Amino acid sequence: MDTQALPPIDITDIVQLQKKTALAWRSSSVAERVERLKILNDWISRNQSAIRQALWDDFKKPIAETDLSEIFPVTSEINHAKKYLKSWMKPSKASMPMPMFGTSSYVQYEPKGCALIISPWNYPFNLAIGPLVSAISAGCPAVLKPSELTPKTSALVAQMVKELFKPEEVTVCLGGVEVSQELLSLPFDHIFFTGSTKIGKIVMEKASKNLTPVTLELGGKSPTIVTKSADIADAAKKIAFGKFVNLGQTCIAPDYILVHQSKKDQLVAELILAIKDMYDPSFLGIAKSKDLARIIDVRHFDRILNCLQDATEKGAKTDFGGGNDRRELFIEPTILSGITEEMDISHEEIFGPLLPILTYESIQEAIDYINQKPKPLALYVFDSSDETDLILKNTSSGNAVINDCVLHFLHNNLPFGGVGNSGIGKSHGYHGFLAFSNEKGVLRQRVGFNNVTLLRPPYGLKAKKII
Ligand code: NAD
Repeated sequence: MDTQALPPIDITDIVQLQKKTALAWRSSSVAERVERLKILNDWISRNQSAIRQALWDDFKKPIAETDLSEIFPVTSEINHAKKYLKSWMKPSKASMPMPMFGTSSYVQYEPKGCALIISPWNYPFNLAIGPLVSAISAGCPAVLKPSELTPKTSALVAQMVKELFKPEEVTVCLGGVEVSQELLSLPFDHIFFTGSTKIGKIVMEKASKNLTPVTLELGGKSPTIVTKSADIADAAKKIAFGKFVNLGQTCIAPDYILVHQSKKDQLVAELILAIKDMYDPSFLGIAKSKDLARIIDVRHFDRILNCLQDATEKGAKTDFGGGNDRRELFIEPTILSGITEEMDISHEEIFGPLLPILTYESIQEAIDYINQKPKPLALYVFDSSDETDLILKNTSSGNAVINDCVLHFLHNNLPFGGVGNSGIGKSHGYHGFLAFSNEKGVLRQRVGFNNVTLLRPPYGLKAKKII
């Protein structure tokens, strides 16, 4: 039969079919889930050059960066899940409190069911497939909606899924806002959204119609504190990499720096050295670097330049960079000082290669500054004293890293995610498995034994005895 002649299956029908698969997969074994992870891993190994090409076509992402930040995090998640899935799936015993004498109890991890994964453009392979690894580990079929702003990578993701899974197991819906909104109206059993805080609120509102639980991996402004005891050269090298990798389009990039006033000039000098070392080793100019991606599109290019213009018009000083090429969608790594609260750059997530530097005199001033802003996705502290403890105890952030930045994304054993404005729920490794699992508390009573005999009517004097 010519399958091409069949009418396309409606997404509502696919979700219904996936619901049936979810029932069948509810009791799936470790081996079955590991097999699904294995075919995913094999496909990625066989198609590395296609993945690199797609990312290059979408926004000239350097091959080494694709390997490090798109392929490696996914294969690392897969290998970690394959190794530990058996222990994650094993019911965990709950200890017995006195009133439950005679019973036994445990937590059973059951797959939530059919999942929707909506992903952004900035790490388009990693952030679509990473959550899929967690969904598969937990035993959930899934519908993926990758970003419309990276058409080559999203098409490759669709092709991969089509080659490996039946639509009733995993399927990809390509498209933009309308497709996303149509999917959000369907009764999924879990929604895993990665994207902006603004759209995260829409996702949560839509999910509430079906009371669908959500994981929201959102954005925000991640502060970076450099104290007076920090090793400034070391801090500068690490901050420059974390900020300018992917040309600043990273959710956990240091958004702005708070440096002790006495160290500001040294930090700026070291940051400039670090930028030149990484992106202009042959002195041909940073624009010639093959190691910097491009801004994703003209809308974002204009947004970032408007932010820069607003800051400079209101008195910010460009300590480095500022050059740009609209046709190439390129903006130089740029360092700014003289920042004030009137500037847009102090409030909006920058999500581009602009690095504002603010100063403080007392550490309490830096802590107060962070606490008056929405809770960030990550907080970075460069420090060699006990000020680190003070900062961590007195601020709130999804994650924190001491004497480095962005590295925590690659740590499979740490929960990754935001808090408040920067997100709800956690992902990666066991925490990703949990996001797609219902932790079912199970209590087993012995036949003929009853703990609540004392509580059964007629209450009479029994109630008085208990109280
Ligand atoms: P976005 O919120 O604009 O889009 C994300 C996804 O939502 C896309 O697939 C898009 O098609 C869809 N979408 C857009 N508008 C929608 C609407 N009105 N209704 C329903 N769906 C809609 O985000 P983006 O621009 O693709 O990505 C950048 C943002 O993502 C930044 O804020 C960044 O900080 C954040 N981010 C967070 C993480 C994290 O792990 N916490 C990772 C990467 C990016």
